[in-house]
Amino acid sequence: MKIGFLTDVDGYRAPIHPESIDKYSFDVHLEKNIFDYLNYADSSQDNVKTISKLSDLDIVACVENIQDKTIKELKEGTVLIGIFDFDKIEEIKSLRSDIKVLSFFKLPRISRAQNLDALSSQANLLGYASVLRAAKETSDVIPMMTTAAGNIQPSKVLILGVGVAGLQAIATAKRLGARVWAFDIRKEAKDQVESLGAKFVEASTEAQDSVYAQEVSEEENQKIQEALKKQVIDSDIVLTFAQIPGKKAPVLIEKSTVENMKENSVIIDLAAGTGGNCEGTEVDKVVEINGVKIVGETDILNTVKHAATKLYSENVRNLIELYIENSDDEIFVEMSS
Ligand code: NAD
Repeated sequence: MKIGFLTDVDGYRAPIHPESIDKYSFDVHLEKNIFDYLNYADSSQDNVKTISKLSDLDIVACVENIQDKTIKELKEGTVLIGIFDFDKIEEIKSLRSDIKVLSFFKLPRISRAQNLDALSSQANLLGYASVLRAAKETSDVIPMMTTAAGNIQPSKVLILGVGVAGLQAIATAKRLGARVWAFDIRKEAKDQVESLGAKFVEASTEAQDSVYAQEVSEEENQKIQEALKKQVIDSDIVLTFAQIPGKKAPVLIEKSTVENMKENSVIIDLAAGTGGNCEGTEVDKVVEINGVKIVGETDILNTVKHAATKLYSENVRNLIELYIENSDDEIFVEMSS
C-alpha cells in the first residue's frame, strides 16, 4: 500500500504534519516541498519517501486544491482524499470516474466519526481566527479598559450562524471580554449560545428543529434581515458564518443596514466564498462603506496554518487507518456515493 501526500496548490496547509509522520506504521510518500508554506524543511524521517510517480500511489491525500493534471495521472482505483466541496467532487468525477473520491464534505457527522471530522476541526480554528482578524481590523479594543484617563466600554459583537465556527467565535470573543449576541436559524442553537454566556437574538418565527439548516423562503429571509437590523447597527463587530452546504449563503445583512452602522465597525463575512451573508461583501477584499469595513477574505485560516495542518493531518490519518483496516465500512460507502 503506497500512500502519497500532495502540496496544497495555491493553499497554505498540508495534508500531513511533520509530527504525524511517525504515527504511520508504513512509509509515507511526500510531494517535494510539501511543507514550504508552513516554513518547515522537507522531512528527513526514516519512513519518508519522495513521490516520484503519482501512478504508483494507492491512496492520495490533499487539502482542498488539486490540479486536473494531477488527477489525470492517478492510477485506476486510487483513493483520493480531500476537503472537496460538492462542485469539486463533480469536477473530479467528470475527469476520472475510475477513482474513488473520499471528501470530508460527505463524511457522516456521527459520533463514531468525530475524529475524522475535518470540517469541524477547521471550522473550530476558523471561529477563533476570525475573531482575531476582527480585532486586527478594528481600531478599537475588544475588552473593557479602565484607565485613569477614562473607561472604554467592551465591544459589542454579533455572531450570525452558530455552527462549529460560530460557537468557537462566541467563546473567543467572550474570552477577549466582548459582550456577545448571536443568531442561528436552528432552534437548538439558542441553548448553545446561552451556555457560552452570549445572548440569543430572536430574529426568526420559523426556527428550524433540525441538526442541519434548510434554506429559508425569500419572505422569511426578509423578516430575519429586518429583525436583525437593530442588533447589527448596534454592534461594533459582526461575524457571519451562516451557510447551507452546496447552496448560496443567505443574505442576512442588507446594504442599507451597513450604511447605518457606526463608523469603524467591522463585519467579517466568513460566507464570502459562497456569496456572502452581507450585501457589499467582495471576495478576498476589504471594502469600506460609510466607514464600515467589510472583510471578505477566504483565507483567514492561513493565520493559524500550523494548527490547521496539525488537526487536519490527524483527521486524514484517522481516515486512512480506518480505510485500510475496513475499506467497506458504511462511512466510506456514504462518502463515496
Ligand atoms: P455550517 O458551517 O454548515 O453552517 C453554519 C451555520 O449557519 C449553521 O449553524 C446553520 O444552522 C447556520 N445557518 C444556515 N442558514 C442560516 C440562516 N438563514 N440564518 C442563520 N443561520 C443560518 O455549520 P456546521 O458547523 O457544519 O454545523 C452544522 C450542524 O452540524 C450543526 O447542527 C452542528 O451541531 C452539527 N455538527 C455535528 C457534529 C457531530 O459530530 N455530531 C459535528 C459538527 C457539526
